[in-house]
Amino acid sequence: TRRVVVVGAGMAGVQTAVALRERGFTGTVTLIGAEPHQPYDRPPLSKAVLLGKSEGSAFEVDFEALGIELALGRDALGVRPADHELDTEAGPVPYDVLVLATGAGPITLPGTEGVPGVHLLRTLDDAERLRPVLARQHDIVVVGAGWIGAEFATAAREAGCAVTVVEAADRPLAGALPAEVTAPMTAWYADSGTELRTHARVAGVEPGAVLLDDGSRLPAGAVVVGIGARPATAWLAGSGIELGSQGDVLADDRLRTGVPDVYAVGDCASFPSGRYGERLLVHHWDNALQGPRTVAANILGESDAVYDPVPYFWSEQFGRFVQYAGHHAAADRLVWRGDPAGPSWSVCWLREDRLVALLAVGRPRDLAQGRRLIEANTRMDAEALSDPARPLKNA
Ligand code: FAD
Repeated sequence: TRRVVVVGAGMAGVQTAVALRERGFTGTVTLIGAEPHQPYDRPPLSKAVLLGKSEGSAFEVDFEALGIELALGRDALGVRPADHELDTEAGPVPYDVLVLATGAGPITLPGTEGVPGVHLLRTLDDAERLRPVLARQHDIVVVGAGWIGAEFATAAREAGCAVTVVEAADRPLAGALPAEVTAPMTAWYADSGTELRTHARVAGVEPGAVLLDDGSRLPAGAVVVGIGARPATAWLAGSGIELGSQGDVLADDRLRTGVPDVYAVGDCASFPSGRYGERLLVHHWDNALQGPRTVAANILGESDAVYDPVPYFWSEQFGRFVQYAGHHAAADRLVWRGDPAGPSWSVCWLREDRLVALLAVGRPRDLAQGRRLIEANTRMDAEALSDPARPLKNA
């Protein structure tokens, strides 16, 4: 029988193990994960789990019944491809096929690592440390107005904390969306009573306060840093497995690495998108759900298992349900659907009349229809598209 070893027991690792069994794989499947907890889902951490509305977010997977062996609380330390062995804290583990699914780790704010009162938000342990902070209604400073920063600020406001978000760029989500689209989103901060300080950099953290580089001093019972995440791949140094400029494992269109019998999937890996003509590194949940199906199909030798998804993600912030499908570039043409000052609207991106991406705020139907049109690479009529009363459809 063949032995598949999966490193990383997050969404991508768990889904890989499950997909192998669903497709009838009969060899051994071992899932090795650094965290001691029963494998769990991350999106609820910045939402229900943080607010104590749900205790945890463990996956509802019966690992024992599926014949998936769990080795938790164990760090993988390196790979020796020539020996087909993975090195772990508990010794070497032989594999026939290895799947890298170690996800990403949060980027820390230099100088604040290990400082009491400074938090990150990536793991269940992080969320459990932050829960009492919210309950005590401290003044909170959030560093970074990205997806995580916005979701954390939302939860902290809901808990009754005074929240200031410090952002180095001129606006929220500067790395993800154009200024035209983030303009209405900026207003959401003020509407929720969250103070947003743009063009602001943290100069230092002292007990009870955050100092900014313009000399201002913000009271802070706690600081939450949400300035991005980087693939958790440092442990692969020297293995011969090639990494990209962001530390991403360079996978091919079947999610194979350049090393025989080693695959990579989820937040830790980038892949060449045939659809968008560029390499994508996606840090969203849906990619950690879809990618594993491709990996499992390839391990089982199914012939047409190429990974070329329309990326999708959602975010819940300031009382809005935000969804995005596809991938856009700065040169793509932007078409509005609806009033950006209103409670719900969408934005479409067209490339040569074809829909390549869509952002929907409180318009899940637009998202569902748009996603299908993007998948089908459909030609659109921009005029019709801009009328929010008409359903999204091809020209
Ligand atoms: P991970 O979930 O990071 O899992 C990787 C696992 O591997 C971790 O448990 C890690 O400890 C382990 N590991 C790392 N290195 C080693 C090693 N050397 N040895 C052994 N184990 C190791 N996406 C959305 O689309 N919508 C959302 O609303 C959303 N909300 C989010 C909220 C939060 C707070 C966070 C942190 C993320 C959110 N995401 C969301 C992103 C989504 O959760 C990730 O894309 C997804 O978890 C990626 O899954 P993964 O399995 O690739 O990586």
